[in-house]
Amino acid sequence: MFYRDANPKARILLLDNHDDFGGHAKRNEFDLGGQTRLINGGTLLIDSPRPYSAVADGVLKAIGIDAAALAPVIQAQDPDFYRFQDSTRLGVFFDQETFGADHLAVGYRHKPWSEFLAGAPLSAAAKRDIERLETDTQDYLPGLTSLQKKQKLMKLSYLAYLRDYAHADPQALALYQSRTQGEWGVGIDAVSALDCWALGAPGMKGLKLDKGSIPGMGFTPAGYADTGGSTRLHFPDGNATIARGLVRKLIPAAIPGSSVEDLVTARADYSRLDRAGEPVRLRLNSTAVRVWNDGTPDKASRVNVTYLRDDRALTVHAAHCVLACYNMIIPYLAPELPERQKQALHQLVKTPLVYTSVAIRNARAWDKLGVGYIYSPGCYHTMARLNAIVDIGSYHSPHSPDDPTLVWMTKTPCRPGLPEHEQNRVGRAELLATPFDVFERNIRDQLGRMLGKGGFDPAADITAITVNRWPHGYAPEHNSLWEPELPEAEEPQVIGRARFGRIAIANSDSGGGAYTDVAIDQAHRAVNELLGSASGA
Ligand SMILES: Cc1cc2nc3c(=O)[nH]c(=O)nc-3n(C[C@H](O)[C@H](O)[C@H](O)COP(=O)(O)OP(=O)(O)OC[C@H]3O[C@@H](n4cnc5c(N)ncnc54)[C@H](O)[C@@H]3O)c2cc1C
Repeated sequence: MFYRDANPKARILLLDNHDDFGGHAKRNEFDLGGQTRLINGGTLLIDSPRPYSAVADGVLKAIGIDAAALAPVIQAQDPDFYRFQDSTRLGVFFDQETFGADHLAVGYRHKPWSEFLAGAPLSAAAKRDIERLETDTQDYLPGLTSLQKKQKLMKLSYLAYLRDYAHADPQALALYQSRTQGEWGVGIDAVSALDCWALGAPGMKGLKLDKGSIPGMGFTPAGYADTGGSTRLHFPDGNATIARGLVRKLIPAAIPGSSVEDLVTARADYSRLDRAGEPVRLRLNSTAVRVWNDGTPDKASRVNVTYLRDDRALTVHAAHCVLACYNMIIPYLAPELPERQKQALHQLVKTPLVYTSVAIRNARAWDKLGVGYIYSPGCYHTMARLNAIVDIGSYHSPHSPDDPTLVWMTKTPCRPGLPEHEQNRVGRAELLATPFDVFERNIRDQLGRMLGKGGFDPAADITAITVNRWPHGYAPEHNSLWEPELPEAEEPQVIGRARFGRIAIANSDSGGGAYTDVAIDQAHRAVNELLGSASGA
């Protein structure tokens, strides 16, 4: 969009290796009882540690999304979704393999602790410790200033903090182990205690840390510590609505309609994405394998891109190319890049994740048990929740527990005990080697055990499963436990994203933050680099 706005006469070809557009912002569609039900297969919502920049917000507005205006209306439809940490319907599933017996406790942070933990398979000491960490105001780092505490916590894993300073019982540690997986894709052994503090983790209130980040904190918590983050807004298919809005703007014939309300239900016409003669063409199932300037970077007059499609290698020539793919593959696409840049790109390691969508005949078991969201620290999927309720335009979510509905489950494959990026690599290998039936068996087993007392029968109640695997998920963010704090110009994503002749590099990887607004801001930078360069005409 930036390129076309600056160059209205430009002809633009977008290549994507997938069979759908949107990248992480993927939409899952189900036909349940004759109704189309939507859920995000990847990017969940507009939600960033920092307010959206004017550029990123401008893009949303240009495609008809006024997040600030829509948020209050949509958030009011499902407050549980936006404040799930305090939800009355938040449950914890203690599994037999980790805790000795299966037990679902409901009312986390809502019921009195003694009541919430009454039937949990935990020792009396563990129960006492969980209540202490969740409620107390004890200072576990006495004698230090707020800044000294922050500096110490930045180099200490949250696991080490709970174990060695708060002296928490091992069963309490097992309860919290997976708590960070949704944000970081790894457990509390690989995330700093300071980063966890900024997101409100237990056991830290008594430290009385001053609000605000310090240099070297991670991207996600640093933003929350300072600003509280951006507007939060969830569409029925997550940020796939943004991807659809972008396609509508660039190729109007592919997505009919004109407003954000009709965007969600508009039927995409994939046959219109790549038509000869159109100024913008979006070509799916096309994997770029080679990109090179046709001369030295400062003298090149064009750039060539070879891509694979239908078992054929095809080459296109262009004035410019923006590589908005995973940055770690760029050294293989463009081996002529300077060695230092290639090394920096190789340092980036993405986080693997799985978002699983499960269709169920109804939500009666959830209703009977009084639960809408279940944290399950020892299970194959560490989170399961009923799909968010969002009504927009002619799209209506199921509102009754008797209606067929969708469940969202998440898993982040990792190997606790290893450094973060080693965990990511092991997790990715596991993800690539796991057949669907292993997922299916685990999903059926887990939902049956968690919800069985509410009458849930996996054989009868599960009607469909979609497993969205993201071997290359979140963009790598700075982790103070494992990485040195560097001047910005020496950060690997900054070195890695340098323009190379007629090739510029975008993607959220370039911004060191796993958020949609980061991806938009980086696209803006990359286009400006090309158009502002000597060869930009
Ligand atoms: C499961 C999940 C949930 C997330 N949730 C949120 C959220 O709630 N909010 C948020 O702000 N962010 C979230 N994110 C972060 C997300 O990374 C960003 O929102 C954003 O989608 C990243 O956009 P991108 O353009 O940088 O990369 P991507 O969306 O990954 O797009 C890159 C595209 O390049 C394609 N590609 C790669 N290599 C090639 C090649 N050689 N040839 C052709 N095409 C190629 C890929 O297939 C992909 O389509 C989430 C990420 C994941 C994985």
